[in-house]
Amino acid sequence: MEQIYNFSAGPAVLPQPVLKQVQEELLSYKGSGMSVMELSHRSEWFEEILAGAEVLLRELMGIPDNYKVLFLQGGASLQFTMVPLNLAHSKKAAFVNTGSWSQKAIQEAQKLTEAVVVASSEDQNFHYLPEIPEVPKDASYLHITTNNTIEGTAFFDIPQSEIPLVADMSSNILSNDYRVEDFGLIYAGAQKNIGPAGLTIVIVREDLIGQVPDLPVMLDYAVQAKNHSLYNTPPTFAIYVAKLVLEWIKSEGGVAEMERRNREKAALLYTYLDQSKIFSSSVEPAFRSLTNIPFHTGSEQLDALFLQEAKRQGFINLKGHRSVGGMRASLYNAFPILGVEEFVHFMEGFAVKYKGGKIYV
Ligand SMILES: *Cc1c(COP(=O)(O)O)cnc(C)c1O
Repeated sequence: MEQIYNFSAGPAVLPQPVLKQVQEELLSYKGSGMSVMELSHRSEWFEEILAGAEVLLRELMGIPDNYKVLFLQGGASLQFTMVPLNLAHSKKAAFVNTGSWSQKAIQEAQKLTEAVVVASSEDQNFHYLPEIPEVPKDASYLHITTNNTIEGTAFFDIPQSEIPLVADMSSNILSNDYRVEDFGLIYAGAQKNIGPAGLTIVIVREDLIGQVPDLPVMLDYAVQAKNHSLYNTPPTFAIYVAKLVLEWIKSEGGVAEMERRNREKAALLYTYLDQSKIFSSSVEPAFRSLTNIPFHTGSEQLDALFLQEAKRQGFINLKGHRSVGGMRASLYNAFPILGVEEFVHFMEGFAVKYKGGKIYV
């Protein structure tokens, strides 16, 4: 098989040992004669997978006992609805607007409650992050996006907040070592850093749920928690793969080690970008994401040529989000450091071939 490096923002690269184990167990899970895809979600086998995934996530993230862990569906996008529905009651919801995903969260919340933006970095195209402000008590929660997947910024220091902090952590959960206690609720679609698409993880402090009567059952955290994520059929196969990824993270040294590696990988690329004569990053250094790194040449033509050339060399899915253009390298946990080294080497070669607005190949 040809060696490629997959820089996709999501669904994204998974650890090779996990994929191999999936392959080995695909036709008969633990001698059952059935694939995980064929197991009842009420079987002992699957209940063990689900419980195991929760135990591992609790251990890896240091999730306190007074938080529920929910394995849901609908992606992070459904959380844009579920969070205000469950947490806002009759109060306002406050938001920090740091990019496209924040904006989507705000738009959805506005349909259900009064959503107020208390800080924003829109004035400079989201190339930096505003301070997370103190928020008045008349808001039920403050929503932030810890990592802005499209714009390439991340919050590293989370301030103490009097009202519950809700975090969309879709693109840096398990990559940055956050303290769960700093948040009232964390949610993440799995397809960026946890496992396959189809699974959404919610970590929520117990006292925040069950406060709104008669919610539609599937949208009620309390129902999901009471039923241990088995109110209906959960995404069984995605949960199984996620559990294997969590085992892999543990065996590699845990989240702190993931963050250390991610810092090393990101530093390689940022250091190169900052001294390059043709590539650059628009994000202010203090706010640069470890997992999603947008960059550009300043010329659409040259960007296109670079993408074409990169693809030919096996560096794939580097096209920037359509709203920002250019390139984007997503370096999630499973992305190997060797891939970043080889990529920077490739960029150096490309830069040498580029002279005075022309490419000499
Ligand atoms: C990808 C992403 C989303 C959307 O996730 P879905 O699971 O596709 O709904 C939301 N927020 C952030 C920060 C993301 O990176």
